[in-house]
This record gives sequence, structure tokens and C-alpha cells, in this order.
Amino acid sequence: MAKKWFEKDFALWPQDRETIIRYVNELLADYLKLKDENIKLKERLAMTTIKTEEKGGFKVISLDMGKTVICDWSCAKDWTDREESGGLLFQSKAVCPECMPKLLEGVKKHGEEKFIREYCPKGVSFANWVRSMREDREE
Ligand SMILES: [Zn+2]
Repeated sequence: MAKKWFEKDFALWPQDRETIIRYVNELLADYLKLKDENIKLKERLAMTTIKTEEKGGFKVISLDMGKTVICDWSCAKDWTDREESGGLLFQSKAVCPECMPKLLEGVKKHGEEKFIREYCPKGVSFANWVRSMREDREE
């Protein structure tokens, strides 16, 4: 699933690739709540595919994270190479096996069951499950 930022998100539209990469890295760090110690993930992000294009009157930066899988919930951990199965899709957020119990508590408490769209199938790793959902949704 490519993450996209639109021209209006930038005070100044960056023209050259280096400036774009710097902007995107800042946005990504914010988006992923990157921690300094997460070096491996930073290395992966350096290999991210960055595409800029005109779409519907906007300039758009698209960013393809490749095989990287990050929990969208509170832990924001890197699950890319982990084998554990579990987790669920809460609205559009992929919630990892470790965050799932706490999320389910909250869901029960607030009656938010309708926001659970899918569970990770048994025997499939969380990372592979998230990647398979991305493939389904690629444009
Ligand atoms: Zn998590």
C-alpha cells in the first residue's frame, strides 16, 4: 500500500529527488513514529520507491514501502521478518499480534466490533498477511 502525500502538505514543492527524499523521510519518521534505535527499518526506508506525479491537478508523492510491515497500532514495531501469526485489521489499521489483546479490550468496552474488518488467518504470519492485503489493493 503506497503512502501518499499531496502538494498541499508542502509549503514548498521540492523539485529535486534529494529534497523529496529528505521531506519524505521526515514525514515518514513522523508517520511511523520511528524510534532512533530502529536502524534496520531506516535502512529499509532508504530503499523505498519514491514516485512523483501529477494527478487530478495535484502533484503527488507516492511511496512504496516494499516488504516492510509496521504495526499501525501503538507499538509501531517492525514486523517485516517476524514469523508470528495473529493480529487484525481495525478500520484501515493493521494491528499486530502483541497489540491485539489490548485493542480487543477497548473494542469490547466501547462496542466497536463493527470496525474490525478482518483477522489474520491461523498459520499465516502477520507480516505476510499484511503484505497480501496490500497486493489486493494496489492500483
Ligand atoms: Zn503493535
